[in-house]
Amino acid sequence: MRTMIAKTLFQGPGNNYNVYRGCTHGCIYCDSRSSCYEIPPPFEDIIVKVNAPELALRELSRKRKKVMVHSGSMCDPYMPIEAELGLSRKVLEVILKTGNGAGFLTKNVLALRDLDLMEAIDRQAKAVACFTLTTMDDALAKRIEPRASLPSERLKALWTFAQHGITTGVWMTPLLPFLTANEENIVSIVRSCAAVQVKYIVCFDVGTTMREGSRDYFYQKLDELFPGMKRRYQAEYGLEYICKAPDHERLYSVFTEECKKAGIAWLWPDIEELTRIPDRIEQLTLF
Ligand code: SF4
Repeated sequence: MRTMIAKTLFQGPGNNYNVYRGCTHGCIYCDSRSSCYEIPPPFEDIIVKVNAPELALRELSRKRKKVMVHSGSMCDPYMPIEAELGLSRKVLEVILKTGNGAGFLTKNVLALRDLDLMEAIDRQAKAVACFTLTTMDDALAKRIEPRASLPSERLKALWTFAQHGITTGVWMTPLLPFLTANEENIVSIVRSCAAVQVKYIVCFDVGTTMREGSRDYFYQKLDELFPGMKRRYQAEYGLEYICKAPDHERLYSVFTEECKKAGIAWLWPDIEELTRIPDRIEQLTLF
């Protein structure tokens, strides 16, 4: 473990934040390994932003109205080291104290530990719990996301958050060409989400990304886990960044049709509506 004193915490119009740099979940396709993010290797030797709670308090105290802040855009906020350090929890405590709303994206059911805080945040503004699901096959997930919670466990966690009134979402990305980008998997994920009352699914397209830094690791893991698959990727995508499944258009319409049938939102304006602070709460803060 390494530590750093960060200068700022929240970034961009979405107020995204990461209390850790690097990740130990070991997903073979991880985009955060890309060189452009400049996370000093080794990626698994986590860099901890030890002053994250202080930065959160300073930056949120300056906001004139309630805002949503989101963790997990780059590195998982609930990887195992969080059980020991509790830094994501401390930032949630600040979000609660300052009256704001919070969302997270994770692959680890350790997030359930913070259910109490998420409920309290939801009462005062808005709380959104998101998990990534790239397959519903636990055995396959163990190979491609080796140290994350199993998809079946993530699904149970989504159910628990939903039962406590928290808005839940799923990021169904990436879908790996020739491995998980297929109709059976997409239908299985959407139907599983429907069964646990997931409100929305984010899927940018049916495919994955590869670039300098992430491509080498992905190919190394393909060689170990799926012999012959690297050659297939190289022939299909060369050095392309965006790698769509060959039948991505058909698969995307399978996805949208399944969402329609299940009453799950997938269009961005609908997702924004589901994840923003409700008007009645925003108006209260004006008086
Ligand atoms: S959980 Fe996210 S950040 Fe961590 S290894 Fe997997 S894809 Fe990368």
